[in-house]
Amino acid sequence: MMRAWSLRRRMMLMFCAVVGVLLTGCFAGLYILLSREVHTQLDRQLLEAARPVISDLVTDPADEDDVNQLNLPGEYFELVDSSGNILQRSKNLPAGVLDRGAIPWAGSRTVFWTLDQRGRDRLRLAVIPFRRGNQQELLVVATPTLTADRTLGTFRGIALVLLPLSLLVTALVSTWYVGKSLTPIATFTRHAERMTEQAANSNPQELWQPLPVTTPRDELSRLAETFNRLFDRVASSLGQLRQFVSDASHELRTPLSVLRGETELLLAEPREPKQYHEALRVMDNELKKLGRIVEGLFTLSMADAGQLRLASDPLYINEVLEAACVLLTPLAQTKQIAIERELNQDCPYLGDEVFLRQIFVIFLENAIKYSPQNTSIKVQLEATGRMVSIHFGDQGIGIPPEHHAHIFERFYRVEQPGYSEAKPGETPSGGLGLAIAHAIVRAMGGSIDCVSELGAGSVFTVHLPLHQ
Ligand code: ADP
Repeated sequence: MMRAWSLRRRMMLMFCAVVGVLLTGCFAGLYILLSREVHTQLDRQLLEAARPVISDLVTDPADEDDVNQLNLPGEYFELVDSSGNILQRSKNLPAGVLDRGAIPWAGSRTVFWTLDQRGRDRLRLAVIPFRRGNQQELLVVATPTLTADRTLGTFRGIALVLLPLSLLVTALVSTWYVGKSLTPIATFTRHAERMTEQAANSNPQELWQPLPVTTPRDELSRLAETFNRLFDRVASSLGQLRQFVSDASHELRTPLSVLRGETELLLAEPREPKQYHEALRVMDNELKKLGRIVEGLFTLSMADAGQLRLASDPLYINEVLEAACVLLTPLAQTKQIAIERELNQDCPYLGDEVFLRQIFVIFLENAIKYSPQNTSIKVQLEATGRMVSIHFGDQGIGIPPEHHAHIFERFYRVEQPGYSEAKPGETPSGGLGLAIAHAIVRAMGGSIDCVSELGAGSVFTVHLPLHQ
């Protein structure tokens, strides 16, 4: 198979071909113009030379020697009658110089002609008809074209040197310029190849070196910026994916090892029914944990793929919120936490009741989990035009400012002295709750805000569009 030519070579050849055609065209055009001008000049010269001779012949038709006596350097004359007989011939014109067979005799109008006779100088001649008395005669004036030919020859010589020289210069300049212009692309290619090689076995975020963005800003620097953004995104997605997989397997490993430990213990020797019961309770707990993690991961992966199927049922958000509060009241009561709600406003909505309740439960559970005893949680609903905002405010331990940006990440937990472990009935900290809430709210076209003060409490606000 023929090897494809490189872009560099194709561009260079294209430049040279275009410049070559243009230059050849220009030189040819100039040559034609110059040669036409030179001949016009010669013709004008011939007419100028003929004018006084004709005028003499016409004013004095009796004089039979007017032309015979002429002897001007570089100008030959011949007087011919209408039948082609030579009447007179200038002294400097030897016989046979003007080959009458080669000269067009046009009769009534002036004809210009170039006579190219073997072994003789080329002659430019004019055949001028005029009337002498009642006779129609022709005056032939000729002059050698030597000077004109020399001028045109010099031009041809210059063109023959300049044309290849210009092509050579074009080839050199285009090779240099195309090479210089394509260098960033070669750098991009090397970069991308290196990234591809290394991405498979190391952390892409560590390897990633941004492409140099050249100034002034041109198409290539914009391409470099776009590449940088793309690689950044790919690197961070790859990094997140790896982190997610490692976090997920770590989370799954703990309940699995507890389960394995329990079963091994039970199978080691016969046990009392009470011991079986106790082990089954532990196993049930761990299975629930596992189920929750797997369920959460499934929701997140569906949301990532944009395939979270949200129903579009008519409902009242205040009612779903009230139901979630009722569901969690027993848990709140174990810590003497009051769930105060301001849900008097009817808020009709078209959406998915199950996912909405799941979000509300996540915020309420967190508020209970991260609040000390004898505090209160405030749940407010606020519908403003096209948006509805639901606030979950607690008087809990709050979130340290440096963790604010991360709490919605998967498996992210804040280790805090104010919170040690889940109380009975509480969902143990898994670091997935806020990530799931965030993914669902985003799928609903909304957003979540968090304002929190360490030691004073947090307010999470869910904003949802009323009409999608
Ligand atoms: P978890 O299962 O650990 O609660 P989440 O994703 O729901 O996971 O929350 C992530 C982290 O955010 C928690 O570990 C906790 O430190 C912090 N957090 C969430 N809600 C609150 C809250 N109401 N008060 C204080 N901290 C909170």
